[in-house]
Amino acid sequence: MRRPVTDPARLSYLVDQKLRLTVWCIRCDHRADIAVAPLVDKLGANYPIPHVARHMKCSRCGNREITVNPTWNDEDVPGRPKSMTYPPLRT
Ligand SMILES: [Zn+2]
Repeated sequence: MRRPVTDPARLSYLVDQKLRLTVWCIRCDHRADIAVAPLVDKLGANYPIPHVARHMKCSRCGNREITVNPTWNDEDVPGRPKSMTYPPLRT
């Protein structure tokens, strides 16, 4: 089976880049930064980052419509590749 053209980044990428993960509730706009190491312990370093959302639930409203993104340290820097963002995931 061919790999999809847009193969998502893996948790190992966040470890390599020393990034945290921003978890964002689509419904109530609640955001939180979480550490990656516990996710790697639980899901493995090769786990696709967008799929982490399936394991998340909003602590404020209980919603499971969650999107996850690497927590960029340089969000204000112009020219950051747009390809490094992920669309909101819906189930
Ligand atoms: Zn919420």
